[in-house]
Parts: sequence; C-alpha cells; structure tokens
Amino acid sequence: MIDSHCHLDFDDFNSDREEVLERCRHLGVTHVVVPGVSMAQWRCLIPLVNQYAQLRFSVGVHPWFLDDYTCLSSELFRCKALLLAAMQPFLSHRQCCALGECGLDKPKASNQAEWLQQQVVFEAHCLIAQQLNLPLIIHSVKSHDVVLKYLKQYGLTRGVIHAFHGSAEQALAFYKQGFLLGAGGGITYERARKTRAAFAALPLEAVVLETDAPSMPVSGRQGERNSPECIPGIATHLAGIKGDDVEHVVHQTRHNTLSLFGIN
Ligand SMILES: [Zn+2]
Repeated sequence: MIDSHCHLDFDDFNSDREEVLERCRHLGVTHVVVPGVSMAQWRCLIPLVNQYAQLRFSVGVHPWFLDDYTCLSSELFRCKALLLAAMQPFLSHRQCCALGECGLDKPKASNQAEWLQQQVVFEAHCLIAQQLNLPLIIHSVKSHDVVLKYLKQYGLTRGVIHAFHGSAEQALAFYKQGFLLGAGGGITYERARKTRAAFAALPLEAVVLETDAPSMPVSGRQGERNSPECIPGIATHLAGIKGDDVEHVVHQTRHNTLSLFGIN
C-alpha cells in the first residue's frame, strides 16, 4: 500500500516520525508521498526524504499559503518564471515525483482578487506541468469545474485530485481527462453519501489511497492526529464501498500510484 498524500513533515509528527514510519512498514505501507505546500517548506523536505528511502515528495504552492507569496506576480508568465526558477533545484532530486500540492479553493478566497490570484498561481503550475511533463497533485474545493477547465486548456492528462469530494459525474469527468481521484478519510463517513457514490461509480483503475495526515481523520477517530497507519483501514472501506475484495483494492491502487508517480 502507498499513502499518496501525507504531510509527514508537519510538526504533528516531530515526536514520533520514525516510529510512525516503522509501524507503516509492518502494516505494508511501503511508500509515502509528502506534498510540497510552500517554497519555504520545500527546503525542509530534503533532509527528511534523504533520511527515508520510502518517501517521495513534490514541489508546489498550496492555495492556502498564497499570502506568503507577494513575490508571486499576478501576471501569469512572470508568475510561472518565478515559480519554475524556485522549483528548479528540487526537480532533479531522485525522490521528487510530482508538482503540487497546488489548486483552487474557492471558499478560501475572501474576495475576487484573491480568487483570481489563486487561478494565476494554479495556471502557472499547469504551464510547468505541461512543459516538464510531470504529474500534478491538485487540491480542489468547490472549484472542480474551473480546475477541469485549466486541465483541458493545457492538455494535462496526468495527476490526482487529492481527497476528492464531489459527485460521480465530476469524478468521471476528471478520470476521462486522465486524472486519478484520491480516496481518504472522507469516504469512511456514512454521511459522505455523494462522495462514496462517486467512488462506487469509478473503476478501481481511477483511484489512489491517501490519508492527508495529520488532517482528515477517519470516522471514529475525530479530533485525533491522522496517520499513514490508517491506509489499511481506508483500503478496507473502499473495498466495502465497491463490493470488491481488499486484496484487489490494495493491489490495484498500489499499481495506480506507482505508475502515476513513476515510483519503481
Ligand atoms: Zn494536503
């Protein structure tokens, strides 16, 4: 099994990161992908991934952290140039496997200017993904139509909509574009009917497992720190939703994740 999205570098894991990874190994979670979220954080990821061979990482600017980047221009091509120059030293690292976490989060934008700036920064990531042919790790909250519009505009066909929440129609539209959908703690809640129906409708080839730890705890563990150790439980839930056996879910989602990120 692979946790395709886990913020293992966050302070929440400072006291026991080593033990968490050790327990993951025993549970059969062989790889963990740690997404980049801000330029300052990319640098901190390097010593971490150098220490643990089972980690992969990506570089991107998360839509929640745009305030830190007054340096990022509101002009698209200037923004792309600045972003690419900052990413360049990290892209050649052998454990760097994607661009992101980037994307759009409409409710986080408090006005139209912020919403437009989110789009410029996301579009800049799209331009870089197109130029370098790298998969994208996308955060999309109440923004699926706009995200899909940009993926189509730039002909992007590789990546993941992480922690997907939405309808079966939206999920299938992303999959038709070539994107995979991240199934995490959200699917373990009975009340998440629409999202569970979406994962039921998708072919297993379209799905990767993730925790988004330390956020998004699974049902029954609200208020606790989430952990990549929860991946086997999410696989079991997904198997239940799909009426499939766990072994098949584990095998296929692992294959999907390895080929998406070029992990061998
Ligand atoms: Zn995340």
